[in-house]
Amino acid sequence: MSEEPTVSLVDVLEEDEELEEEASAVLGGSDSDHCSYPQGYVKRQALYACNTCTPKGGEAAGVCLACSYKCHEGHDLFELYTKRNFRCDCGNRKFAGLQCKLFPEKEDGNSLNKYSHNFFGVYCTCSRPYPDPDDQVEDEMIQCVVCEDWLHGRHLGCAVPDCVELQEMICDSCMNRNAVLRTYADHLAAPVQVKEETEAEEPKTKLPRKEEKDDDLTQPSLKRSCEEAEPSCKLKEMQTTGQKRVQSGAAFWPSGWRSKLCSCSTCEESLSGAGVSFLLDESDTVLAYESKGRNTEPTPQGRDPLMSALDRLNRVQQLDIIHGYNDMKSELKDFLQRFAEEGKVVTSDDIRQFFEQQQSRKRRRVDVEAFYCA
Ligand SMILES: [Zn+2]
Ligand SMILES: [Zn+2]
Ligand SMILES: [Zn+2]
Ligand SMILES: [Zn+2]
Ligand SMILES: [Zn+2]
Ligand SMILES: [Zn+2]
Repeated sequence: MSEEPTVSLVDVLEEDEELEEEASAVLGGSDSDHCSYPQGYVKRQALYACNTCTPKGGEAAGVCLACSYKCHEGHDLFELYTKRNFRCDCGNRKFAGLQCKLFPEKEDGNSLNKYSHNFFGVYCTCSRPYPDPDDQVEDEMIQCVVCEDWLHGRHLGCAVPDCVELQEMICDSCMNRNAVLRTYADHLAAPVQVKEETEAEEPKTKLPRKEEKDDDLTQPSLKRSCEEAEPSCKLKEMQTTGQKRVQSGAAFWPSGWRSKLCSCSTCEESLSGAGVSFLLDESDTVLAYESKGRNTEPTPQGRDPLMSALDRLNRVQQLDIIHGYNDMKSELKDFLQRFAEEGKVVTSDDIRQFFEQQQSRKRRRVDVEAFYCA
């Protein structure tokens, strides 16, 4: 009915910048210039393990983002994405020949750090590297929010739902270690869904967060009176009502699920005894960390933010989001190139089509990866 609106290159780049922001948010919550050691055990930060300095066979160690750049330049680094409650090890006694350039005055060790096989470059219950040269199956790695290991979608023991990036996953062995989580899963975890290729993906920016009202499970927050009033234990209520579901496999949790866990003193104590009290803390999530990154100034001064984002991206091997981002980046360039060559104007429809293609490509990839496993 009306003329098709045209889109300037600026519009395209703005759209692109949003994606870029998305990608740099992953590292943006971490400081790329200063060793994080003086901050102690950081609530959540990007971490690396150095295969050159602390190879397999020795003691595991992890270094902060800034140290990965400044002290381990050119070394063989494993990208660990983010982990919670970790203090930088760079240059401590685990590093035979290396002194930290940023904060050399470190004590011997960081006794509260938790290490896993990730620090030696292997992941999942199958203990394989990622990417895995001997594995041709394209599969998504998903991080367990409890043990923080990365698992193959096909090794979770459950179907991988749509929009996994919006959900938190707890792996089978962590579920088994914490029996109450099965009860919570019966009531809160995402119902296993059948995938639908056509359904549009939810835009990331519209994440329902805290303020989201829950449909059937909302209880008034009774933290104060919990101690004296037994029935206000949300867990007890859940234990006495409702359906039992699958008792094995990993669980996927919708956003906002942490706020529905009971935080009465008994529950708090037992979660803390099991070392998982962080589940009561919504700011512990990767999403919270990433949005912190988005709100701060993540790129060094005086550099093209695009180039520094790409610099960073090149270092990252394990991160699907960033792989996807780089793919899209070059595809977007090719796409624009075509228009330039043909002397055509890029319309908003063209752009929409481009992003729709991207989305469906991504969706298809996820579809291929997701299947039930016994
Ligand atoms: Zn450091
Ligand atoms: Zn190193
Ligand atoms: Zn260092
Ligand atoms: Zn695996
Ligand atoms: Zn786990
Ligand atoms: Zn309780």
